Amino acid sequence: MDGKKVRTRFAPSPTGYMHVGNLRTALYAYLIAKHDGGDFLLRVEDTDQERQVEGALEVIYNTLNVTGLHHDEGPDVGGPVGPYIQSERKPIYMEYAKKLIDKGDAYYCFCDKERIDMLRQNSEALNRPFKYDKHCLHLSKEEIDEKIKSGVPFVIRQNNPSTGTTTFEDELYGKVTVENNELDDMILLKSDGFPTYNFANVVDDHLMNITHVVRGTEYLSSSPKYNRLYDAFGWNVPKYIHCPPIMRDAHNKLSKRKGDASFEDLLELGYLKDAILNYIALLGWNPGTTQEIFNLEELIEKFDYTHINKAPAIFDIVKLRWMNSEYIKMLPVEEFHKMALPYYNQVIKKDLDLMKLSELLHTRTEVLSEIPGQIDFFEEMPDYSPELYIHKKMKTNYENSLVSLEKALPILEGLDNWDLTSIHDSMMDLVKQLEVKNGVVLWPIRTAVSGKQFTPGGAFEIAEILGKEESLRRIRIGIEKLKEVQ
Ligand code: GLU
Repeated sequence: MDGKKVRTRFAPSPTGYMHVGNLRTALYAYLIAKHDGGDFLLRVEDTDQERQVEGALEVIYNTLNVTGLHHDEGPDVGGPVGPYIQSERKPIYMEYAKKLIDKGDAYYCFCDKERIDMLRQNSEALNRPFKYDKHCLHLSKEEIDEKIKSGVPFVIRQNNPSTGTTTFEDELYGKVTVENNELDDMILLKSDGFPTYNFANVVDDHLMNITHVVRGTEYLSSSPKYNRLYDAFGWNVPKYIHCPPIMRDAHNKLSKRKGDASFEDLLELGYLKDAILNYIALLGWNPGTTQEIFNLEELIEKFDYTHINKAPAIFDIVKLRWMNSEYIKMLPVEEFHKMALPYYNQVIKKDLDLMKLSELLHTRTEVLSEIPGQIDFFEEMPDYSPELYIHKKMKTNYENSLVSLEKALPILEGLDNWDLTSIHDSMMDLVKQLEVKNGVVLWPIRTAVSGKQFTPGGAFEIAEILGKEESLRRIRIGIEKLKEVQ
C-alpha cells in the first residue's frame, strides 16, 4: 500500500471483559498487519471517564498475551507515537480541536442539557434522527470569550455543511455517499475536556500512522463525518475495514450484557484459547478452501481481508464445540491429562488410575468443564432405574440382562489380571458361549458398572478403571435390581 509500512491498531475500551467481537477485531487487525510484515498497536480508549472499571487493563493485556496477539507498540511496551492510553493524550485533542475551530470546521457550543433535551424531543416527535441546530455556530468571538471566561461549560462540535454530499470508501462495503444535511454536528470534545470516540479515533489514527482501520460496522455510518475531519486537517484517510456483526441468532447481536459468553467465560468453560481464536477467525472470513483448522502462523499467511464477508456472522456454539474437540485431540495425551486433572479432582476422591481416564476422555471431550458430569459415576454409582437395562437396539430386556450378569459375575471374579484385555477376552468368550449378540452381554455390564445411559467409553474400559472389587460390587447390585423386577 503506497510503499508504506502497514500499521493497524486494536483500540478497546476498558470494559473489564473481552467481547468475542472485540477479540475478532483484534485478531483481524493483527493478521492484516502481520500478513504484510507490519506493526500491530494497542491503544486504550478510556475517555469515557464515567465508565472506569477496575482491572480492565489487565483483561486487555492478558487476552493479547494468552492468544499470542502480541502488540509491537502499546501502553505497556511503549513506542514512538505514545502515549497509547487516550486519557494521557488529553492536551493533544484540545490542541487539534482548536485547529479545527480556527479553520471554521468546528465551533464552541454552550447549549445546556435542557436545550439539547428539547431538541432531542422535537426530533423524536418528528420521527427524525437527532441533529444539533447549529445554534452556537453564530456566536461572536466576544460572546464566546465572555462565556469561556465566566466558566460556562462548553463542548466543541464539528461544523458540517448542510448541502452537498460526502463520500467515503470501505474496503468491503465499497463507496458510500451520504447527503451532508444528514450529518449531525457531532461533539468532538466533551465538557470535561475529554474527546469523544468520534474525534479521538481520527486524531489518534492519524498521529499513530495507522494505515488500516479495522473495527465493527457500528462505526460505518459515522465514517463520512470522520472523513470530513481528515479532510479538514488535510490528512490522508486510512483504509477502512468495517467487520460484520457477530450474531447470536438471525435477529440478535452477540452481547455480553445479554448473557453471551465473553472470551474469559469461554476459557472458564474449558474451551482452549487456540480453538477459540481459530473459530473466531472464521466468523466472517474464510480462506476460500475447505481448510478449517489454522494455527496463528497459518492464519497470518492465509489471511486476506478482502475475503471478509459483509453478511453478519452467526456464533455457532456447536461448531465451536467441534473445533474445541479437534484441538483437544491434537494435544498430546499427557498435556490433556494436565488440563483435565482439576476437573477430575472436582468429583473423584478415590484412588483411580486417572491417566487411564485421560486416555479414555482425550478423544471424547468437547468442552473440559463437562468432564465432571461425565465421570462422576466413577466416584459414586447413581441410583438408577432397572429400566436402563432395557435397550431395543442392544436387544436387552430384564431376563437376558439378568442371565448375562449372573454368568459374567463368576468369570470376572475368577480373573487374575484386571486389565482391559483380560476383561474383554473373557466377556467375548461369554458372548460366544451364550450365542447372543455382543450387546446382550455388554449393555448390562456397562449399565451395572456405570448406572448411566451415556458414558465415556464402554463396559470394559469403565470396569478396568473402576477396578475389580468395585466393578464386582456394582454387578452384584445390578443382579439384585434385576431380580426384583423379574
Ligand atoms: N473503543 C472502540 C470500541 O471498543 C474502538 C473502535 C475502533 O476500533 O475504532 O468499540
